[in-house]
Amino acid sequence: MKKHNFSAGPAILPASVLKEAGRAAANYQGMGLSLLELSHRGPEFTAIIEEANALMREIIGLPEEYHVLWLTGGASTQFYMVPFNVLNEDETAAYIETGVWANKAIKEARYFGNVEILASSKEENYTYIPKKFRVPKNTRYLHITSNNTIYGTQLHKFPKSPVPLVCDMSSDFLSRPFDPAPFGIIYAGAQKNLGPAGATVVIVRDDMLGTVRRHLPSMLDYRTFVKENSLYNTPPVFPIYVSMLTLRWIKKSGGLKGMQRRNRAKGSILYQEIDRNPLFRGTVAKEDRSLMNVCFVMEDAYAGLEKDFLKETEVNGMVGLKGHRSVGGFRASTYNALPKASVQALVDLMQDFARRKG
Ligand SMILES: *Cc1c(COP(=O)(O)O)cnc(C)c1O
Repeated sequence: MKKHNFSAGPAILPASVLKEAGRAAANYQGMGLSLLELSHRGPEFTAIIEEANALMREIIGLPEEYHVLWLTGGASTQFYMVPFNVLNEDETAAYIETGVWANKAIKEARYFGNVEILASSKEENYTYIPKKFRVPKNTRYLHITSNNTIYGTQLHKFPKSPVPLVCDMSSDFLSRPFDPAPFGIIYAGAQKNLGPAGATVVIVRDDMLGTVRRHLPSMLDYRTFVKENSLYNTPPVFPIYVSMLTLRWIKKSGGLKGMQRRNRAKGSILYQEIDRNPLFRGTVAKEDRSLMNVCFVMEDAYAGLEKDFLKETEVNGMVGLKGHRSVGGFRASTYNALPKASVQALVDLMQDFARRKG
């Protein structure tokens, strides 16, 4: 039986993508060779990365001055690669502290320049998105985390900023339409909403490049990847291929508007059930609820039933619902590829459980 995959990452991919990736791993386009054993400089992979870049530009609506780069090292590498590439030692970058990932980004930026934390929701265990802050004009950039995977909060509006936004979009990349204009840099590890672990997408605007005084080793310099079209060294060939297949799937499924429709439909039935069901409650401010990671806990009176419920989700073919250890309870990750039927199965189980145990 195919499982309902609610994992936070590496996460669910569209069934059609997995099927085609399987074929490509066995025998790529009837060549008698696996895609895994083809040169990254051959015509097959050249066509793949060109199509991936073209689809990315088309789906987001990226203007000319943005570059789409494929890197390795995960979003965690971008925590230091961003300030290393754009922040001089005597400059200040502004950060919004909305959780563990934002915190790690802050820690790394401090190695390269000054960091000003404009707002934080730490004192409330990151259960909301701070919105009241002013971004000083003399900062180099404002770093935000668009979706906080661990807590289940999401920015439903990006802050107004006189300086370029730098955004960790790892866990809601390509989940909704957005205007790229305020963004200087967007980065995302592929494994949440795009493809397998191993590839990291960086979208960088021209004016962010070439302004730091320090020497940048080739592999840590965005300009190397711009100049060599992400092919300075061997890129993560297979993750890029699978990401390209997911991009095709997104386009065919109505683009970012289509993704948003899917994700809103899933979020609405699950949050409605959390609010309605007397055994469960949400853990974050309603206006900041994420459409990618839905976090909830058992009401205090039923806290003893948490293990039972988790067990029942497993028996019913649902995986990945245990909440992050720093939050507890449950987390249903409802990324682009998760079908509404999986969310419905979870909602049905919550209702059935409440009838039996409530
Ligand atoms: C998962 C995640 C990361 C870490 O990504 P890696 O690719 O494992 O380095 C960073 N930021 C956010 C928002 C995430 O969800």
